[in-house]
Amino acid sequence: MNQAYNRQKNRLIILILLSLFLFISSVAYFVYETNQRFMMKQVSNKMEVELNILNEYIKDFLIRNDYAEAKNFLEKWVANENGIVQLTVVFPNNTELFSYRKSESTHNCQFANKILSLDGEEITITIGHNIQQIYEDLDDLKIILACFTFILTGVLAVALWLILSRWILGPIQGEIARQTKIIREYSEDLEVINFSYKALSSSNIALASSENEEELLKKVCDIIHIDCGYKLVWIGYCDESGTKDIIVKASTGDSQEYIDTIDLSWDKGKTAGSGPAGRCINSREPVVIDSIANDSQFNPWKDRALNYSLRSVASFPIIYKEKMIGVLTVYGDREKIFLDKEIALLKELCQNLGFGVFALRDRKEVRRLSALDNLTGLFNRHKINQLFEHEITRSARYKNDLSLIITDIDHFKDVNDTYGHNVGDKILQEFSLLLQDERRKTDYVGRWGGEEFIIILPDIDLKQAICLAKKLQKQISQFDFTEIGKKTASFGVATFREGDTPESFVDRADKALYVAKERGRNCVMDETVLKKN
Ligand code: GH3
Ligand code: MG
Ligand code: MG
Repeated sequence: MNQAYNRQKNRLIILILLSLFLFISSVAYFVYETNQRFMMKQVSNKMEVELNILNEYIKDFLIRNDYAEAKNFLEKWVANENGIVQLTVVFPNNTELFSYRKSESTHNCQFANKILSLDGEEITITIGHNIQQIYEDLDDLKIILACFTFILTGVLAVALWLILSRWILGPIQGEIARQTKIIREYSEDLEVINFSYKALSSSNIALASSENEEELLKKVCDIIHIDCGYKLVWIGYCDESGTKDIIVKASTGDSQEYIDTIDLSWDKGKTAGSGPAGRCINSREPVVIDSIANDSQFNPWKDRALNYSLRSVASFPIIYKEKMIGVLTVYGDREKIFLDKEIALLKELCQNLGFGVFALRDRKEVRRLSALDNLTGLFNRHKINQLFEHEITRSARYKNDLSLIITDIDHFKDVNDTYGHNVGDKILQEFSLLLQDERRKTDYVGRWGGEEFIIILPDIDLKQAICLAKKLQKQISQFDFTEIGKKTASFGVATFREGDTPESFVDRADKALYVAKERGRNCVMDETVLKKN
């Protein structure tokens, strides 16, 4: 469209220049013609003056019948007069008193007659001049005329150009500029919307591919920063502890330091609560500030924001199923950059983000539940098997120590029988906590089944494992369980051997536990006892 306008504009300029050229040529021709006529008039005047003078002299000579003197006078005249091509004085009977004819073409020559009446006789005086010659004699006049012509055509050309450009080109150029501006703005808007769509689609991919919330939030910030070109992007969560603070969870952009310098809150009683993010959380609607410099509500942060070249800001709520999760805030380095369509797309992006956050939380919860034992919160047998296989592979590869403790509560059936199943459950929970108390971060404690538990000890050799088992056995035997008081447990300990499968490894610990039961319970037996048996 823009190109078409430019083409039209160029065509018009060519047309105008052509018209201008024709007009100036016509003016120049007209001035030239006028000059010519003016010059000819000059020549006629000159000849008329000459004829009058000749008339008087010849008349005078003829009255005196002094023909010789007349001829003499005329010869001198011809000799003195520059450019004269003919001078004849003819009587009515065609007798020539004087005849001078220069043999040259009559081209460029001008002739004039005068009839002299003397005693009823009409004597014709004819004079002819070479105009060119006269023109040359009129040099000064010619220069003045040429200058006049030049200046006149110049002034006319400028005047015409000004008129044309003002009256014709002016409005056209104005229209072209207006249309070009509209097209440019339109294409800029399209570009922004296009980028926003891209950001929306990329963030949807991020929703599907992120493993955890932190990763998702960071990805979304990066996408919005890169695709939409905002200077700074951050996502904050509403603090659920009751402080009404906004806790920044992820940010991307050049001016991230700015976020560290400001308080973020949605508490209406605090100044921070009147910021765009706070107002957005309270209203549950996007808050857009087109000009940070001119928005009175942004005054508390204005100078700092402008120092970081942040000129506009918009906050969008992240809500899922009526629950306010937090806020997405974007800053632009120019004013008035938020288009309606773009705001709508960012709003949609935040809705998707809310859904994504909850989906990830659900997934995490499902994973957590599927890995844990319902009653005790320890790893369940399925998860323990997975971890066990992983640790065995690691030990086999890196030749690390790996040990295992299996423990079983002694005469647990009696608890159920005497105090009931609920008390039995409670004892199992208390027992689990005792096992966890002694656990290192790298150890895994799981419920192996019923009242039987397992502890996987990476990087621990048999001796250290026996030590830990004995410590646990002592603590358990000394612990006062709810309602039932004292209770003991038996322990079987084994350590990893090359070539062990998970089954063979557990089997040795199991057998050691069996020996512990056989030997009166409330004791620790390790795999070495098996060789003796
Ligand atoms: P031992 O010293 O030989 O281990 O004797 P025990 O009574 O502890 O062993 P036994 O295998 O005879 O009994 C285990 C009991 O643990 C039987 C079962 O009812 C009980 N039990 C298993 N799982 C649970 C549970 O989740 N809750 C409760 N309350 N009891 C359970
Ligand atoms: Mg038991
Ligand atoms: Mg048992």
